[in-house]
Amino acid sequence: MLEDKNPKKTALSKLGEFGLIDHLTQNFKINQESSIKGIGDDAAVLNFNNAQTVLTTDLLIENVHFDLSYMPLKHLGYKAVVVNLSDVYAMNAKATQITVSIAVSNRFPLEALEDLYEGIYTACKHYNVDLVGGDTTSSTTGLLISVTALGIAESDKIVYRNGAKPNDLLVLTGDIGGAFMGLQVLEREKEVFKVNPNNQPDLSMYAYIVERQLKPEARKDIIDLLEQLQVKPTSMIDVSDGISSEILHICKQSKVGCELYENKIPLDPQVISTCEEFDIDSTTIAINGGEDYELLMTISQDDYPKIKANPNFTVIGYITEEAKGKHLITRAETAIPLKAQGWNALNDQE
Ligand code: ADP
Ligand code: MG
Repeated sequence: MLEDKNPKKTALSKLGEFGLIDHLTQNFKINQESSIKGIGDDAAVLNFNNAQTVLTTDLLIENVHFDLSYMPLKHLGYKAVVVNLSDVYAMNAKATQITVSIAVSNRFPLEALEDLYEGIYTACKHYNVDLVGGDTTSSTTGLLISVTALGIAESDKIVYRNGAKPNDLLVLTGDIGGAFMGLQVLEREKEVFKVNPNNQPDLSMYAYIVERQLKPEARKDIIDLLEQLQVKPTSMIDVSDGISSEILHICKQSKVGCELYENKIPLDPQVISTCEEFDIDSTTIAINGGEDYELLMTISQDDYPKIKANPNFTVIGYITEEAKGKHLITRAETAIPLKAQGWNALNDQE
């Protein structure tokens, strides 16, 4: 679909493993004070002094987590880093280093990996994290990418999923549902392309939602903003699977209930119009669609004045006693039990 019309291809075997690692990582510079030794020895050496360290990892598999027929490799590299950094920020920590491991088949020429690493490089620069290591190996079929991210935070700053208290406000950053609807558009265009390969898709009217799917951002800005506003959420999680299941994670770990208001859920106009076009209920998408990488948090009501004028935050509900249960309050003011459908389940329904 998004094919390179002038491919010049170099077989990976031309470089050998070490030549390949050197070639792909030569432009990465170390910027973090805590990175004592990056790529090039048996292990990286890091010094975080007395700060607590947060560590998270994700494994992405071709045709399970990404589809190269509409995901350019550069975007894939960027997104692979972003999804990990999002987990670090969800702990209210600062991301500092990543490692990247890849398994790649000989179907991929050097130029494809250069694209992948260009995306990784762009993300490292944008989020100011160092690439300090990884592993490179062969695969018999597709591409596998595993990213591990490290971050730091003072122990009293780290925010877990288990701190939500009754009467806390449920707060969401940005808007949601876009990444899922972007995926629906890309899947549809892929089917059209299969039938007519000369048909280059015009995605301009879906620009925002397609970008939400192909080039998501992690909310580093929110971590900085919370510090500036002197707000420490009582709990926080990143929205990778849809807010319904994320809210339930917070409720379960915090032993609380909640009320989520349908009419408060922030949706971009493009999400609403695309839902109408696909004849899908936008609230279903908003609460079950995944991969938006926004932050969902609970804050004490005392902190409400600090966030209320800020357009980055929307109060979408509040926390209750556990015995009250977990409900979505619809526009018609009926309470429906919240279920963790998740976006995979949503896909299976079709
Ligand atoms: P070892 O044989 O000890 O595992 P490698 O030869 O795999 O070492 O790696 C050499 C160096 O290159 C190490 O610093 C390793 O972390 C780094 N490295 C290997 N593969 C990658 C990769 N895909 N991206 C970034 N760094 C890598
Ligand atoms: Mg190795």
